[in-house]
Amino acid sequence: MSDYRLLDTPIEYLKGVGPQRAAILKKELDIHTYIDLLQYYPFRYVDKTKFYKINELYEELPYVQFVGRIISKELIGANRTQRLVVWVHDNTGKIELVWFQGIKWIKDKIQIGSDYVIFGKVSVFNGKKNIAHPEIEDYSEFTQSRPSKLQSVYNSSEKLKIRGLDTKGISKLLKILVPLINGSIPENLNFDIIQSLRFLSRQESFKQIHFPDSPQQLVQARNRLKFEELFYIQLDLLKVKKEREINEKGFIFGKVGSYFNDFFYKNLPFELTNAQKRVIKEIRVDIGSGKQMNRLLQGDVGSGKTLVALMSMLIALDCGFQACIMAPTEILAKQHFETFSSLLSGLSINIAIITGSSKTAEKKKVLKSLLDGECQIVIGTHALIEKTVEFKNLGFVVIDEQHKFGVAQRAKLWSKNNQAPHVLVMTATPIPRTLAMTFYGDLDTSVIDELPPGRKPIMTLHKMENERFRVIHFMKEQISLGRQIYIVFPLINESETLDLKDLNEGYENLLVDFPLQKYGISVVHGQMKAIDKEIEMKRFLENKSQIMVATTVIEVGVNVPNASVMIIENAERFGLSQLHQLRGRVGRGADQSYCILMTKQKLGFEAKKRTSTMVATNDGFKIAEVDLQLRGPGDVAGTQQSGNTQFLIADLKKDYQILSVARKMASEIIDKDPNLLLPENLVLKNNLIRFRRTKEDWSKIS
Ligand code: ADP
Ligand code: MG
Repeated sequence: MSDYRLLDTPIEYLKGVGPQRAAILKKELDIHTYIDLLQYYPFRYVDKTKFYKINELYEELPYVQFVGRIISKELIGANRTQRLVVWVHDNTGKIELVWFQGIKWIKDKIQIGSDYVIFGKVSVFNGKKNIAHPEIEDYSEFTQSRPSKLQSVYNSSEKLKIRGLDTKGISKLLKILVPLINGSIPENLNFDIIQSLRFLSRQESFKQIHFPDSPQQLVQARNRLKFEELFYIQLDLLKVKKEREINEKGFIFGKVGSYFNDFFYKNLPFELTNAQKRVIKEIRVDIGSGKQMNRLLQGDVGSGKTLVALMSMLIALDCGFQACIMAPTEILAKQHFETFSSLLSGLSINIAIITGSSKTAEKKKVLKSLLDGECQIVIGTHALIEKTVEFKNLGFVVIDEQHKFGVAQRAKLWSKNNQAPHVLVMTATPIPRTLAMTFYGDLDTSVIDELPPGRKPIMTLHKMENERFRVIHFMKEQISLGRQIYIVFPLINESETLDLKDLNEGYENLLVDFPLQKYGISVVHGQMKAIDKEIEMKRFLENKSQIMVATTVIEVGVNVPNASVMIIENAERFGLSQLHQLRGRVGRGADQSYCILMTKQKLGFEAKKRTSTMVATNDGFKIAEVDLQLRGPGDVAGTQQSGNTQFLIADLKKDYQILSVARKMASEIIDKDPNLLLPENLVLKNNLIRFRRTKEDWSKIS
């Protein structure tokens, strides 16, 4: 019977490794055992069956291979700048090869008039095509040992190369390892999965990934290995989720009572969108079911998530429980408090707010009323997590803008009750599908995919410094129409010593065109005292100031419907999701809104892509996907999660299809056999244990 004993052999025992190379493999590549080396997958392949003609070579090609005869070899320059220049030709043309290192050795090795197989990357230097440091092999030797087909290329490093572990060296080790473990690689998927997805065996996949027989075989091997990587993450998440459903009893909020109904019939200022109705229904089913809800609510900026949260909280109140909502910033918490207060007015519901700047006496009062149950809804920042905040019976927890909080912080909030409350986690903007499935894969998901009616799509424009006077003209025009304007400056350092230079300079410049005698200008940035921020926000909210100059503190949540213009300065410095978040601050009223992205003249590829994406679409789901392509999963998922985005072969940018299948399969298995006790699932159970040992924190992400 095959097991993991052979695969777990320390790498130093492999022929050709030894203690020194083993040490460097461990240090540089984290390769400790045979299986680690097997799972050190090539990062690309070169097609050694394809031969180019010299006149077919051009710069845009990847690595190319061709046969050429040496015409000349010549050392040019002296000492450190010396280089070897070699000309080769075939019956279509000639090209220059050049070496800067190992010159003597190459020069002696190659013979004028002989044929060689040359392999390298074409570049253009001074308008002339050449290939620097190509691999070069005697044609007759090449045809004898012909390394047919696709050849693997491995990532290496200087330190590895010194020990002979360049791509060829690594490949040599695998040439020893792969036959050695032939027949000893245990399968880690069950027969059903392999059968129904027509996968190669694990054994064959390892062979094909390193030494592909054909491009088709390679694709099959890659798919299978990607699948198993994604599958175990899903199996892990879904098993944890299932266990929680079975073990965590949830409060049963079985009825909708007068709080909900009074709000719905008397206070609700508008018709709910269909998406809002659907999501509220999903939540109601969950909280009435007896299991504890853990739900992620995704929705674009301005899609009305707050209202869904509020109405869900009212159901908790109807069932005699308290509810709370935690927001990432003080401004947002204040705003939620005001929104809630006005939406709930006349319903005699007791609501309170706790933030870092709450006064001691005031806070004491709130704490007491939470403990004796008099306060029914509390809104707050991180301050809510503090030990001193205790509830009589907390039944429903909402976390707004979840990405701003760490896992531990969220967990603290729901340990505030003996029995875990229901939890609704809300995003600021949509998360790409693959990331949602992976990082929030143990949560149920609801999506608001519809904006409230009557919103005019925000018009987004990209302007550069040379058009500034037009922008100023436009601003004046909008102000004369009664509109208000945000101007946002990037915050370079999010630390205490943040860089306010841009904002201050911008403000000074602004005064030239918008003198304070005529215009009201508010300023808000992260270093101001809470009270000052509040005063400035209030002035803007009450339309006493027409322009709000701010850093990204206004990024999340702020709601001033009369503000219809968002100007983002140095927009090239912002990430896509941040730009989209900022843009979401306008377009909240009935007027046509605008977002103007001001950038410098010359933009890099990514900045161009970001601005053009913003101009092209208002759809947060689309923007999230572009963001993922540009930044990669680690950055998009946020700092809290980025440690967990290391994949061996799967790629969350591309592998949506495989991931969906993996999730579906894992979900079917867990539904049928939550503890993986069926004989056919034994292999999954054992491998899940292995998986958890290596990827300890997957299940603790959300
Ligand atoms: P977000 O999902 O970004 O948190 P909010 O909950 O702040 O969005 O809602 C944005 C704005 O839309 C608010 O002014 C809110 O009052 C309004 N709104 C929410 N739902 C509706 C609706 N069904 N019809 C009209 N306006 C709505
Ligand atoms: Mg919101």
